[in-house]
Amino acid sequence: MALAESTILQGLGVGLRSAVGEVWRVFPQAKLPAWTKTQTNKDAATAALRSAIAAVATDLDTLGARAGGESVEIFDALKVLLEDEELFAVASANLDEGWRPAAAFGMAVNTFAELLEGDSAFAERVADLQDLSKRVQANLAGISMTLDLPQTGNIVLVGDDFSPADTAQFTAAVVGVVTINGGPTSHTSIICRSRSIPAVVSVASANELQNGQRVLVDPVGDRVVVSGTVGDSTSAIEFVALSDEPIIPVRSNIGTLTDARAAAKTGADGVGLFRTELLYLNEKKQPSIEQQTAAFVEILNAAPSGPVVVRTIDAGGDKPVPFLPMSAEENPSLGVRGYRLIHEHRWFIEAQLKALEAARVASGRDVWVMAPMISSVPEAREFCDLARSIGQFKVGIMVEIPSISVLVGDLKSIVDFISIGTNDLSQYLFAADRMNPGHGKLLNPWQPGLIRTLALIAAAGKTAGIPVGVCGESASDPLFAVVLAGLGVTAVSASASQVDVVRRALSSVNLEQAKMVADRALAATSPEQAKENALSALAE
Ligand code: PEP
Ligand code: MG
Repeated sequence: MALAESTILQGLGVGLRSAVGEVWRVFPQAKLPAWTKTQTNKDAATAALRSAIAAVATDLDTLGARAGGESVEIFDALKVLLEDEELFAVASANLDEGWRPAAAFGMAVNTFAELLEGDSAFAERVADLQDLSKRVQANLAGISMTLDLPQTGNIVLVGDDFSPADTAQFTAAVVGVVTINGGPTSHTSIICRSRSIPAVVSVASANELQNGQRVLVDPVGDRVVVSGTVGDSTSAIEFVALSDEPIIPVRSNIGTLTDARAAAKTGADGVGLFRTELLYLNEKKQPSIEQQTAAFVEILNAAPSGPVVVRTIDAGGDKPVPFLPMSAEENPSLGVRGYRLIHEHRWFIEAQLKALEAARVASGRDVWVMAPMISSVPEAREFCDLARSIGQFKVGIMVEIPSISVLVGDLKSIVDFISIGTNDLSQYLFAADRMNPGHGKLLNPWQPGLIRTLALIAAAGKTAGIPVGVCGESASDPLFAVVLAGLGVTAVSASASQVDVVRRALSSVNLEQAKMVADRALAATSPEQAKENALSALAE
């Protein structure tokens, strides 16, 4: 049954503009054949699999060339994943057992995906790998995976979620995107943000939308409205910069050299979060201090000018690094993660800090270091003592576990700064797995429980004289960044694609106005009300 006019579907908005268009449903492609163990000719099966992988690699080249710009690098990285010889070796072992090529490759990808599953940065790679797996299987079965979108018109794409290969096929006709899955950090959100396509993700009931139906995509209102018009959209926010400098510094989050280069093209004041674990994902052997130093120097040299806040490794449990053996855990996000690696792998954290010190000296950059997943004052002290014994860094910790959020005052004279990781802080405050798209509502940064916790942390930091940064995804939302500044946060760090819009937002208000916006958001008891209050305070 078609949804009635004005029906509102709630989700999480991406972007500041709204759009109206006709629904264009993207259904999962024709069902891939079931996996069977009926193969009897290993040589022929190996040749078939190699040729399917080569065909998908050629498709990726074409898609990369079509998408152009930085997407070329995304597709090159996908090709590296696809053509990984270790992945092929696992698939080949499956062929030895008699599995057909599609099954052998699909199972090999599942094995790799299990190793990578976990936190946001890795989750995207898992999604990419699974998309590649589907493409190889589809090629073997002769199924087409192209979206075949129209070149003209105004369409709102509605689907489960969109992979990099899907988003590269978006045409000029795509004026909006709605996904059933995916959260604020999914690939769809990142691409739509960077291409300014209005999107609402995590819309549980989007399945009820039908082809051809007109809808309003209203990201500011976190909703899709059936038959809505632009006039129904929640007031779009136009941030008009009043000064050249934002009221607090806006830094960039990075994980790789490519990110560092992208960040350097923005107005970012340095790096607020360098996620180092991404450097180790594909390393089978522990890289030497010299190898790590070389990688750090390259990234430090490419990073935007300003301080570079480097986070020591945040791996463990659910995101294992191949050369750091860890026992399997029932509940990895509550297990050995981040700084807790110090117990079994102290040498590795020390080696990282030594490499960072050497890179600091070689690059001449202002390097700050911080540890993730700190839960107590003694842990904070231990890390800070260790880091200061190794290098001339400013030293801090991430505040992303509720237990440390109430002890910030006691960090005086221990840390030089703190940085709040709102992604994990939300996960642990709300007991809501950040990887579960069904928890999008609880993980919404506008939740009063999060905003009030942030206010307490910022106030405690101010009293103790400790600078308080925020580097979680919430700081990439320009309106929320204004709230953060108003709460007393002293710096924010956003994804490179959001740095300039966050800078503009923070240049469009003075501190007094930001405080008023924050006070109004603080008074709310629901996320919708918090955002509405902030918007109306900004409009005054
Ligand atoms: C966070 O938890 O908010 C954070 C910035 O760290 P990560 O997303 O890498 O866990
Ligand atoms: Mg975190």
